Amino acid sequence: MVTIHKSACPLDCPDLCGLDVTVENGRVTKVEGDHRSPITNGFICGKVRKIADHLYCDERVMAPRIRVGAKGGGQWRDVSWDEALGVITDKLARIKATSGGEAILPYHYGGSNGWLTEGGLAGRFFRRLGASTLKQTFCAAATMAAVRGMYGVMPGVALEDYAHAQLIVLWGVNPSATSIHLVPIIEKAREAGAKLVVVDPRRTPLARRADLHLAVQPGGDLPVALAIANALFTRGLADQGFLESQAAEVDEFAARAARWSIADAAAAAQLPAADIETFIELYASSSPAVIRVGWGLERNRNGGSAAAAIMALPAVAGKFGVRGGGYTMSNGDVKWTLAQETGIGEPAAKTRAINMSDLPGALRLTDPRVEALFVYNCNPAVTAPDQRGVLAELAREDLFVVVHDQVMTDTANLADIVLPATAFLEHRELRRGYGAMRLYDSPAVVAPPGDARSNTAVFGELLRRFDLVRPGDAMTDDELVASTLAASEHGAKLRAELDANGVALPPLGDRPIPFVDAFPGTPDAKVHLVPVALDREAAPTGGLYAYQSDPGTAEYPLALISPALATQITSTFGQLRSAPAHLELHPDDAASRGIGDGDAVRIFNAQGEIRCDVKLSRDVRPGVCSLPKGLWRKHTANQLTSNALIPAHFADLGGQAAFNDARVQVERA
Ligand code: SF4
Repeated sequence: MVTIHKSACPLDCPDLCGLDVTVENGRVTKVEGDHRSPITNGFICGKVRKIADHLYCDERVMAPRIRVGAKGGGQWRDVSWDEALGVITDKLARIKATSGGEAILPYHYGGSNGWLTEGGLAGRFFRRLGASTLKQTFCAAATMAAVRGMYGVMPGVALEDYAHAQLIVLWGVNPSATSIHLVPIIEKAREAGAKLVVVDPRRTPLARRADLHLAVQPGGDLPVALAIANALFTRGLADQGFLESQAAEVDEFAARAARWSIADAAAAAQLPAADIETFIELYASSSPAVIRVGWGLERNRNGGSAAAAIMALPAVAGKFGVRGGGYTMSNGDVKWTLAQETGIGEPAAKTRAINMSDLPGALRLTDPRVEALFVYNCNPAVTAPDQRGVLAELAREDLFVVVHDQVMTDTANLADIVLPATAFLEHRELRRGYGAMRLYDSPAVVAPPGDARSNTAVFGELLRRFDLVRPGDAMTDDELVASTLAASEHGAKLRAELDANGVALPPLGDRPIPFVDAFPGTPDAKVHLVPVALDREAAPTGGLYAYQSDPGTAEYPLALISPALATQITSTFGQLRSAPAHLELHPDDAASRGIGDGDAVRIFNAQGEIRCDVKLSRDVRPGVCSLPKGLWRKHTANQLTSNALIPAHFADLGGQAAFNDARVQVERA
C-alpha cells in the first residue's frame, strides 16, 4: 500500500521545508518538497531526499543496549526498555542522593529534531531533578547575543524579500550549502539588476559569481565592519534622521568605529583596501540593501563584536523601512507568543550552568564532580571543542554515560547505555523556522523501527519513575502541542491554520518589513548600537568592538576553518559518509611546504594533530586551510577532527566556541 503524507523538515537549516513523504508498506520510500511554502517551492536538498538511507541504515539503534566489557570496546547486550530505564533510574537516583543533582549533566543540542524533541520533557526532567544546566554555545551563541542585545526580539528581512533587494551582502554564510532556497531568490534579484557581495575566506559558489568578494582573514570581519561604519559617519553617508529617532548610543558607536581606518582594517583582515572602498560605495548607494549575517563570522575571538558591528550597518546607513532592506540574522525572532517554556510550564533552573563548549572542563569539575552524562540530540565525541580531552573524559570508567540517539555515533560507542531514538518522521514534531517564518505541526508518518522511542516518551517515563510528574503536566506530544498553543494569545488562529494544512504563519505575517511592521523588542523600541549588557560581557577582552589580533604565530601560521558542506551541515548523517576527509589547502601554501595534491599530511598545533590527505584548492585564500564540519572519527586517518585543534578561548559574547581560531602548521606525513 502506498500513501503520501505531509511533513516538515526539522533539520538545522533556515529553509524549513514542507515535505511530501511517500510511504510504502510501512517504510519511507520517497521524500519531496511540497508547495505549502514559497521558499521550498517543491524542491529540497539531497540530504533529506535520501532520508530513507538514514532511517534504515545498518547503524540504526534498534533496541536499548548496555555495554559489556571495556568502554568503547564495542560489546553490547540488548536489553528491554524496562531494564535499561531501571539501571538509569537507580544510578541517577543514587548520584542525586549522594552527590546532589548537579553531579548529573544533560548534554544536548538540536540534532535532527524539532521543538518538542529539542527540549520538551527532557528539560522538565533535568530541571526537576536539579541537574546542572547546559549553555548551548556551538552555534549562534555570539550572533544571538549580539542581535538580542541590539534589536531585542525582532524578525529580520524575510528570505523571500531578497528578491526586492538592489544589493545583497552574504557575510560569513554560504547559502549554496546551508540555505539552498535562498540561491534562486538571489539569482532572481540579480536578474533584476541587484549586485552581490560575499564576505568569506572561501571562494564559495556564490562568491565566484559575485560582483565583489572580500576573502577576509577569519576574525578580521570586525575591523572591516567598523571601518565601513566609520566611513559612513565621516563621509556624511550616515542616515542622521533614522539614527536620531530610532537608535541609541550612536555617538559611542561612532567613536568606537573611528578607531578603524580603511587602511588599518584592510591590513588586519588581509584584504585590498580598494575592495573595502568598493563595498562602501555599493552599500551607501544601494537601496534596498540587505545583509545576510551568517555564522562563520562568529566562530572566533571577535565573533560577537563582529556580528554587532555588521548588524549596526543597516541602522547607520538607513537601510531599514523598505521591503528587502536591513539584515537577516535569525528569523526565529518572530513574535509568535509561543515559547517552549510556555508549553513546558517550567521556570528556568537555578543550578550551575555549564558551557557545552568546555565539556572536558565540566567533566573535571569537583564541586560536585560530574558522575553522569546524559547525551541526547548530540554527538560531542566529534562536535565539541578539545576533542582529545572529550574522548579521554568519556572513556573514564567512573563516568556513567547514557546516549539517546538514532544511530551508533562516536559518542554512543563510548556510552554505558544506548537508547534507540525515533527520527523526525517517526514522531510528532512542532517546528518553528529561523529563516522561513513558519510553524509546522507534523504527525508521525511511519512507525519507529525496532524499539525506538521519542524523547517525549523516554523523558516522560523517567519523570514518572522519579515521581516528578505534577498534576496538569502535558506528558505526550499531543498534550505538549495543545498546551503550547493554548498558552499563546494567538493560539486559536495558529491552531486553525495548523488544522487546515499543517502550517501556520506568524501573527505579523511571513514578510514583515523591519521598522515598518516590526520594531526592536528593546525596552525603548530602539536599536542599541552599544548595549550596556553586551559591553559589560565583553569587558574582559576590552569591551564591545575591541579587536583582538590574529592568534597566528610563526610556528602555527595557518588558520584552520571548518565550514559546512552541502552534504554535511552537522554531524547528523555522518554514518552514511564513507569517503575520507581532505584538507583543502591553497596551492601557494602547499608549494612552500613541498606538499602536492593528494599527499598525506599532518595538521598540527600544540593541542594535537590530524592526519588526512590534502586537496589543493584556490577556493580557500592563502593562509587559510579547511577541513569540513560534521566529520566523524572514521573520516580521518588518526580518528581526530578539526575540533582536536581549536583553542580553549571563546568568542567575546555568548560563550561561543571559537572553532575558526585554530592556528596550525601543515606538513607532509
Ligand atoms: S533544504 Fe534544509 S529545510 Fe529543506 S529539506 Fe534540506 S535540510 Fe531540510
